[in-house]
Amino acid sequence: MNDAFVTSGSDIYDVVVVGGGPAGLAAAIAVAQTGATTALIARRLPYSDNRTTALLGGSVDLLQALDVWPRTRDKAAQLQVMRLVDDTGRLIRAPEVRFSCDEIGLEAFGYNIENRALLAALEERTAELPTLTRFDDEAAAVDPQDDAATIHTGQRKKLSARLVIGADGRQSLCREAAGIAVNRRELHQAALTFNITHSRPHRNISTEFHTPQGPCVFVPLPGDRSSVVWVAAPREAERLIALSDGELSDAAEKQSHSILGRIAVEPGRHLFPLAIEQPRAVAQNRIALVGEAAHVLPPIGAQGLNMGLRDAADIAEVVRRATASHEDPGTPRVLKRYVSARRADVASRTFVIDMANRSLLSAFLPMQSLRAAGLHLIGSFGSLRRLAMREGLAPSWRSPRVGQVSTEMPAAPSE
Ligand SMILES: Cc1cc2nc3c(=O)[nH]c(=O)nc-3n(C[C@H](O)[C@H](O)[C@H](O)COP(=O)(O)OP(=O)(O)OC[C@H]3O[C@@H](n4cnc5c(N)ncnc54)[C@H](O)[C@@H]3O)c2cc1C
Repeated sequence: MNDAFVTSGSDIYDVVVVGGGPAGLAAAIAVAQTGATTALIARRLPYSDNRTTALLGGSVDLLQALDVWPRTRDKAAQLQVMRLVDDTGRLIRAPEVRFSCDEIGLEAFGYNIENRALLAALEERTAELPTLTRFDDEAAAVDPQDDAATIHTGQRKKLSARLVIGADGRQSLCREAAGIAVNRRELHQAALTFNITHSRPHRNISTEFHTPQGPCVFVPLPGDRSSVVWVAAPREAERLIALSDGELSDAAEKQSHSILGRIAVEPGRHLFPLAIEQPRAVAQNRIALVGEAAHVLPPIGAQGLNMGLRDAADIAEVVRRATASHEDPGTPRVLKRYVSARRADVASRTFVIDMANRSLLSAFLPMQSLRAAGLHLIGSFGSLRRLAMREGLAPSWRSPRVGQVSTEMPAAPSE
């Protein structure tokens, strides 16, 4: 363990992570595994919604390297085929596109898991690391200074850190403390989430129906269960969430064109107003942002948390390199490495998802033709389809940092 920046016996850490959502817990574990002394400020609260995450590409490798995946693997369902179905009923419709993992030599594109189960496994791992101290608390103020940042907590504790990782979600206090402005655009769409059981097997096929108000996706869970993310105009989403169980089951069955047979909704529904948020930077003034503090996207193509996990892997790698060369991990020079590691990934995915969403909603005929032609090309040409699949899983230019995060704790320093 490198102790160049730690003052023994006081609350000064190499890194303090603020926020205990999936991105924050993953970042805290990944950073602590580098040997950096790490504090996590996060309330221990039960996960409050029923979202699931389609973990794609390197996300599973990262969770494996964090020793989290073996604890939760049996609660996840493989995703082997992804179907896109044009259900707009418009004059110009796109052909169905079917992506199959065996076309790119994979056993699965990834795994769908309930966030609740993923969080439980992440929480379990955070409790095991000797370099990670957990505070069941919240950050009340973050004050970055030249040589360290100070964090005042709700329970009147004061911690100092060379680097603060802001994993505190959409209303990020850390982002504000860093002085990072955000471009925010409301999408006038909302996502309704609920889980279902069904009478026909899903055969590990995820199906995305494209409606004029947004996509409605049925994603496999273990057994004859699936999670549903139904994006609609806010008024329609409000109508759907107010339906009785029987009515919502019928509506979901109709929307799925009965591909899963009879549907029964499980208890629990949540509504998420959609927006796109792009902070002007992902790091500044001793503060680096990860997860939704750093980017908010509509749930199309399952990109949000997959990007958040790449943020976690990259900031851990930046910290590992800095501490290995006895550098202060919060200096502008070190933070610049994180900014350049994340820039292209975040910008390109935000652009593509925004365009995909706009092209679906557009009533403009040439835009609809362009979208149909694009999907037709992808559906017809294997090389284009394989390119789209690989890019959908992880950016091709990315060096394989995810999964390289060490599972080994560095040797303890000699006394
Ligand atoms: C409907 C829907 C479906 C989605 N599906 C997918 C998918 O299939 N695949 C995918 O990759 N992504 C998906 N996403 C995106 C994904 O859910 C988010 O990217 C992810 O949950 C964000 O995690 P996070 O840890 O950044 O933020 P959050 O989960 O919001 O966590 C932030 C945490 O910080 C805490 N916090 C806030 N302020 C403070 C403070 N001052 N002090 C201490 N703690 C604080 C909060 O209490 C919270 O626990 C989906 C999103 C939606 C809306």
